[in-house]
Amino acid sequence: MTTVALLGNPNTGKTTLFNELTDKYAYVGNWTGVTVEKKVGQIRHSHTKVIDLPGVYSLNPITKDESVVTNYLLGHSPDLILNVTNASQLKRNLLLSVEVLELGVPVIITLNMIDDLKRTGHYYNLKTLSTELGCPVRTTNARNKEGLTELKADLVRDQSEIKPNLPLKLNYPLMVNQAIRQAATSLTKDYKVEPKFAHWLAIQYINNNKVVRKYATMHQLKPLLSQKAYYDAQKFDDQIFETRLSFIEKTLASATEQLQSTQHVAITSKIDKVVTHPIFGLPIFVGIFYLMFKLSFDWIGTPLSGYLDGFLSGPISSWANQFLTQAGALPMLRSLIVNGLIAGVGGVLVFIPQIFVLFACITILEDSGYMSRAALVTDRIMEMIGLNGKAFIPLIIGFGCNVTGIMAARTIEQPKERLITTLISPFMSCSARLPIYSLFVAALFPRHQALIVLSLYFLGIVVALFMAKFYHVIFKAKEHSVFIVELPQYHIPRLDIVWHGTWDKGKGFIKKAGTIIFAGTVLIWLLSNFGVRGYVTQIDQSFAANLGQILLPVFKPIGISTWQPISALLTGVLAKEVISSSMMVLFHTSNQTALIAMIGGSFTAISAYALLVFILLYIPCFATIGTIKSETGSAKWAAYSVISSLAISYTLAFLIFQIGSLLM
Ligand code: GDP
Ligand code: MG
Repeated sequence: MTTVALLGNPNTGKTTLFNELTDKYAYVGNWTGVTVEKKVGQIRHSHTKVIDLPGVYSLNPITKDESVVTNYLLGHSPDLILNVTNASQLKRNLLLSVEVLELGVPVIITLNMIDDLKRTGHYYNLKTLSTELGCPVRTTNARNKEGLTELKADLVRDQSEIKPNLPLKLNYPLMVNQAIRQAATSLTKDYKVEPKFAHWLAIQYINNNKVVRKYATMHQLKPLLSQKAYYDAQKFDDQIFETRLSFIEKTLASATEQLQSTQHVAITSKIDKVVTHPIFGLPIFVGIFYLMFKLSFDWIGTPLSGYLDGFLSGPISSWANQFLTQAGALPMLRSLIVNGLIAGVGGVLVFIPQIFVLFACITILEDSGYMSRAALVTDRIMEMIGLNGKAFIPLIIGFGCNVTGIMAARTIEQPKERLITTLISPFMSCSARLPIYSLFVAALFPRHQALIVLSLYFLGIVVALFMAKFYHVIFKAKEHSVFIVELPQYHIPRLDIVWHGTWDKGKGFIKKAGTIIFAGTVLIWLLSNFGVRGYVTQIDQSFAANLGQILLPVFKPIGISTWQPISALLTGVLAKEVISSSMMVLFHTSNQTALIAMIGGSFTAISAYALLVFILLYIPCFATIGTIKSETGSAKWAAYSVISSLAISYTLAFLIFQIGSLLM
């Protein structure tokens, strides 16, 4: 039985490949010590076992879950490693490949998602890549099984027949090379470590790989341990990174082939001259985003949303009411279903059009190639505050959902930069905030909806950047992650890809409607229908009203004069969408138009804006808090995030309301 280990960055298609290559009856367990799924399968009609390793960006792990891969390589020697890469992000993907190739175990690299690469307008000469990297290079499209037959043949071939690739030897700076050689020689001689493995251990140890360092301590590998201070003082890890990166850049440059006509390339560079212009680049970026919000709110989203609301609060609501009355349901149950669930969950679902239009726009920007330019343009601003374009991607992803944004910050190597990005991510206005914005802009800023929403998005960014600078100074963050962005050729987005991307981003919203928003709505219905005296018919006597009234003095200074929004804010911690469903329940209406009128009656433009700012910045939702805890590995940072965001949101809302009221 031979063993093939699948290894690669997250989201490169490893699991898809695994499922295509193996029998369905894969063995699934957990890696010891962590909850990461361990999948082992067998290639059909063969004696080859396949292991699906978790996705990592480097062998120097950030989280405990990611240490699985390094630990696996320290403890096992697979017969073959299949390194799965995303063909259109090779520069970043190959950083991991280099580390694997240095191991000297037979490696096959597959450029997966080759369909995406073809659309970017360039291609790679596989022979050149293979020569430079010293291992076979294949191409696959795991989604439609292209190239899988050939790949499978490679994997099941008797590996001993194939000449294994030699460990990749990079030209590290002289001092680094010397250090590696000395340590490796001594490990081989005095500790009987196999030469190839000793070499790899030395590089990884010098490169400050935490897992390898622990391994060295555990096995008392003195040649490494004794030199630790020297390696660190010389900053050998930076030198190693730079050597790897320039090797990759050189390799890719020599292997890149243009697929598109030179005319196409010329068009791309013409567009780039404009959109990445040092002065105009930023206004163009803002303009494109403004257009995106205009489309999602004023032009398409809001009108569609109106129809959906009419349907839910009209026919559906009265049909449910009728049905429940005829079925003899208790009035309480009827109230829960009609005034609670249909109004509340429905009140969130009506914003599906806005959210999907916005996500479609973002996907189009990504797929056309513009988003990488946006990262480049914002890199300059990010540099000023001590971050770089690398932090821009998690932040943009945070527009969809802060949780995924924070997870995307894993690509940032420097711990301090990563922490800063994690802490500022919740200020990005995620899609869950959109429903409540939509309600308030419709109520108080009917003619400037897109502008107001855009201003909130930008305020979120400004606060995030400001806080980043602040953290940068107090954390004394000096080291920088290296920003790598691939600039593909522009092309017209393809419909199926836009659809896939939009659905990928938006499906979570619909799923949440059925789970946490549903639960939040039941909770707020209970709070608003029960009081100290049990079931109450007057909402003023409910727990929700009591709670809101107790907190009213705290919220008065930021312009809130009724208890309903306060209770809604409390439930909003479950998930921000719940704020708008709670408003439906608390204002006792199942009709969006009626709710908008009521909001219009109890807020002024100033107090509404202050509240929106508060909602933008206050406590992150439960899921985000949990993610901050798991990604930073500390409950302290999660608690800090809650407290600091409350302080910031309250201060800003206070200033806006007080100063705004003076001016009006
Ligand atoms: P993993 O994180 O490496 O295990 O990646 P997955 O197998 O979960 O794949 C991530 C996403 O990429 C899924 O939505 C797949 O459908 C998609 N995907 C996988 N392979 C390909 C491919 O060759 N082409 C395209 N366009 N998408 C792919
Ligand atoms: Mg996977």
